[in-house]
Amino acid sequence: MAVQREIHAKSVLTKSGISDYSVNCYSGCLHNCVYCYARYMRKFTGHVEPWGQYLDVKINAPEVLAREVTRKPAGRIFFSSACDGWQSAERKYELTRRCLKIAADAGFGISTLTKSALISRDLDILSSAPDASLGCTITTLDESLRRKIEPAASSSTDRIRVLERASEMGVRTYIFCGPLLPGITDTPGNIEAMFARLSQLNVNSILVDKLNFRSGVLESMLEFLGRFQPRLIPVYRKLYLDPQEYEAYVDNLRVRVEQISRSAGLEERVEIICR
Ligand code: SF4
Repeated sequence: MAVQREIHAKSVLTKSGISDYSVNCYSGCLHNCVYCYARYMRKFTGHVEPWGQYLDVKINAPEVLAREVTRKPAGRIFFSSACDGWQSAERKYELTRRCLKIAADAGFGISTLTKSALISRDLDILSSAPDASLGCTITTLDESLRRKIEPAASSSTDRIRVLERASEMGVRTYIFCGPLLPGITDTPGNIEAMFARLSQLNVNSILVDKLNFRSGVLESMLEFLGRFQPRLIPVYRKLYLDPQEYEAYVDNLRVRVEQISRSAGLEERVEIICR
């Protein structure tokens, strides 16, 4: 059973390497993706529960953001960099929704990325904002695999429906295919099936990324592999420990993704960010 608590944040409009700013209305993420890079954030929270098993709800986030947008230079805000802003608690709290509205009204650009179909609730704001984009992560169309690697997120089918609806409403859309997991979702069959389906969508771009072994990711992957794919444990250990092996893997992945993009007629829209 996950631990959830309400907290008060001092600041929510944070400088970001991804965009000018990021806003995270939650600390922690109950989607609990096996490859999540944000798990290192736990050390700042005082929680002892594992990543994916706790959630801090920043209940004053809209009030804090409303102050901060008047004090900081306008720019682009990424929702959200260290949590999913549309995870299930957002249905009740509507913090991300209120922050989107505040950002749009203050003239800030908005980028979003989610694995939750709940974002369709906020298409009214995104479609009327002067500069907004909606992104969904899709790593596989295999639903039984998706449930294992992104247990509490929406199905890929539901995310695709969100993208279709957003495009119909004139919102700029993109797909984030990442991270592709060695031997699991980076297989030719998985990438081909995804790209065949994604080529039918009217999305503006498709970003593809590799797995990064940031803090805690290897341990999480090894635990996952122990349960589902023990034969891959030595492969992951080698990729983690041997920089040349990892570089060769990334080069090979990039070539394969380029080939499959061309076959799917997606070369104009696919951007491979695994460099
Ligand atoms: S949705 Fe994003 S932040 Fe949440 S667990 Fe998954 S990868 Fe991490």
